[in-house]
Amino acid sequence: MKALLIGEYKQGKLEESTYELVGFAKQFGIDNVMFLVAKDDVDLKYDSKVYIADADKYKEYNPDIHTKLIEEVAEKENPDYIIFSHSSYGWDMAFRLAVKLKVAPISEVIGYNEGTFVVPCCNSKFRRDVKPKTQKAVITLQGGAFAPVSEGTPQIEKIDAEGIEPSVEFIDYEMPPKTGVDLTKAEIIVSVGRGVGKKENIELEKELAQTLGAEIGASRPVVDSEWLDQSYQVGTTGQTVAPKLYIACGISGAIQHLAGMKKSGFVVAINKDKDAPIGEIADVFVVADVNEFVPILTKKLKSA
Ligand SMILES: Cc1cc2nc3c(=O)[nH]c(=O)nc-3n(C[C@H](O)[C@H](O)[C@H](O)COP(=O)(O)OP(=O)(O)OC[C@H]3O[C@@H](n4cnc5c(N)ncnc54)[C@H](O)[C@@H]3O)c2cc1C
Repeated sequence: MKALLIGEYKQGKLEESTYELVGFAKQFGIDNVMFLVAKDDVDLKYDSKVYIADADKYKEYNPDIHTKLIEEVAEKENPDYIIFSHSSYGWDMAFRLAVKLKVAPISEVIGYNEGTFVVPCCNSKFRRDVKPKTQKAVITLQGGAFAPVSEGTPQIEKIDAEGIEPSVEFIDYEMPPKTGVDLTKAEIIVSVGRGVGKKENIELEKELAQTLGAEIGASRPVVDSEWLDQSYQVGTTGQTVAPKLYIACGISGAIQHLAGMKKSGFVVAINKDKDAPIGEIADVFVVADVNEFVPILTKKLKSA
């Protein structure tokens, strides 16, 4: 089994998610080579062959031309799987490539077992096993699902594709305006999930946060329901945080949320379901009604 891993390079730097692709391949004993559009001085710790296309020439983001370059590498290497991160870069290209190569695309992979891929479904409440009908497949891996591996020195082969006329032009990145809180520097985060039940109940977490000198965080449904502003969201489509203490209140522990907070030093989770996945990563797992437990905890802390 062989995989072509598609690394990501953004604003002059290798994206850390690239190492999760390597981690996936290593975890399942899949031979691998990599493709990357980067500058010559890219800092890449990888112990196999990497095909590098010049970022100055092909630009960091150009799905049109990058897809064509990947096709060239795929022709040389004949991989069983072409693997992207489940990122906007990955989404943009994985499906174009799958259509071109006439192979199955499988996205948001969180597990693998001998040719069968595990993907979340029903808003991450369930998982399903997916086996591609084609012999080869294009895959995207969910961020945070596989432990990163960064080691070794790559054998670099430059790749050039003469005569490719891109139909898309990369102009620049436009960063969203910085609004709201910056949770990346918070030492303590009290994070609110759908389990709190309604917007008004968040006052309980706010009081706990105030008592602890913490910031408030949120899962995506809380933001989608407009209980809190998007700048509070933690996860793959929110902020990535690494506080000393993370208190998850009524949060189930979906992979997209865990990806944003798994670097927390100590995790306390409060959930009424003893089987909630957040329990697997929590250092302290409190099985209780969050709306009853949090005020008691705040009261105890205030009187301590
Ligand atoms: C492309 C994509 C990107 C995403 N990005 C993000 C992201 O960045 N961040 C993110 O958070 N999610 C993200 N999600 C959504 C994610 O899949 C989950 O749906 C979400 O994290 C679930 O939020 P939750 O845990 O608050 O809600 P739920 O999964 O509904 O969990 C609520 C939990 O509360 C518990 N509960 C209910 N009532 C109580 C109570 N009274 N007391 C205690 N516990 C209670 C329940 O047992 C349950 O475990 C993304 C999804 C997709 C598809």
